[in-house]
Amino acid sequence: MAPTVRRPTQRYHRATMNGPSPRLRFELQVHRRAGVRRWLRPRPAPAVAKASAPPPARAAPAAPPASAAQPLLVPTAPIAAARPREERARELAQVATEIASCTRCKLCERRNKTVPGEGAIDPPILFIGEGPGADEDASGRPFVGRAGQLLDKMIGAIKFQRGEVFIANIVKCRPPENRTPEADEVAACMPFLERQIAALQPKLICTLGLPATRTLIPEVRAISAVRGRQLVWRGLPLVPTFHPAYLLRNPEAKHEAWADLKLVARLVGRPVDGAA
Ligand code: URA
Repeated sequence: MAPTVRRPTQRYHRATMNGPSPRLRFELQVHRRAGVRRWLRPRPAPAVAKASAPPPARAAPAAPPASAAQPLLVPTAPIAAARPREERARELAQVATEIASCTRCKLCERRNKTVPGEGAIDPPILFIGEGPGADEDASGRPFVGRAGQLLDKMIGAIKFQRGEVFIANIVKCRPPENRTPEADEVAACMPFLERQIAALQPKLICTLGLPATRTLIPEVRAISAVRGRQLVWRGLPLVPTFHPAYLLRNPEAKHEAWADLKLVARLVGRPVDGAA
């Protein structure tokens, strides 16, 4: 059944009077993509309530103020039903086997090794990057070059080990000259990523950079507009942040990435700054 979400009362009324705000338009678009076909309108207030100043006790709550720590979206249908861990581990291995012989797109022609991703099953955090570079193409492992060394530091900064999380990419073969993966390549590879996420059942997804973020939430136009915010993808919390390669080129953005990582740590129940 298509999931249903409640449309916040005040914002709904504001939207009908003034036209939807950009944020509300964005949220509704993402709901639609997530399969939401019906929104619950707030019930009309009883006549007596209209006449009196204070709102009735049972009125729908006002929309909370937007803040970086609040979900932008209401969780929708989960990506997969719970399955036993062994079954999911087998599925994960099966996906890697299929990736190894994949010829679904042109990236297979020039690859040395496929890079399916690595890490723990049931990870607190699934990091998703863009695609393998030269070092990853040579080794078959994700994020092992300079950007990978920085990602390791980012993971360490929030007190996790690399092996405790899972690291994947939106495409599993190196794009020539490290260019951004093209739409047909991403579309061909996406079923692998979806199966990996369903098998892994991460607590949270952290997308690294715009291409990874847009792959999951196509409405996003700029990483700076969404980084450090809690989005939701198929029922999973998703926090976008800068790609480590961007941070190597723009170290002044590291303090923002640090704020994003602290939000990630807090959302998975391991705050690093004492905040609950
Ligand atoms: N950059 C990515 O996006 N992924 C990798 O695996 C390495 C570098």
